[in-house]
Amino acid sequence: MSCFLHRMERKQQRREARIRLQVQPSFSAEPIYGCSRCGHALFEESTKFESGTGFPSFWAHKGEGVVQRQLSTYGRERIQLLCGGCGQHLGHLFPNKHTPSRLRYCINAAAIVML
Ligand SMILES: [Zn+2]
Repeated sequence: MSCFLHRMERKQQRREARIRLQVQPSFSAEPIYGCSRCGHALFEESTKFESGTGFPSFWAHKGEGVVQRQLSTYGRERIQLLCGGCGQHLGHLFPNKHTPSRLRYCINAAAIVML
């Protein structure tokens, strides 16, 4: 192999190594909460907060994990939260002045497990 090609190959290997390094942080060790029925990833630990309601509360959901459904029951508009994997009822979405998203995902403790 010529010296030039060898150098090109080394350069390519370094580039691939760099790409691998950039990709790794997305496989973070952050704990994830998932659906208790199907294990679908729903919430990240970093978005959990203490709401004082007694319900596990989050201010954002993970990716496409949670499905929102508008409810008009008891004469009140509410947004129901369902698992994107199996459709299990998770809880409800409420406005909240104190969170970064101005939302609170009020979750039934029995609907989620730490993955
Ligand atoms: Zn599920």
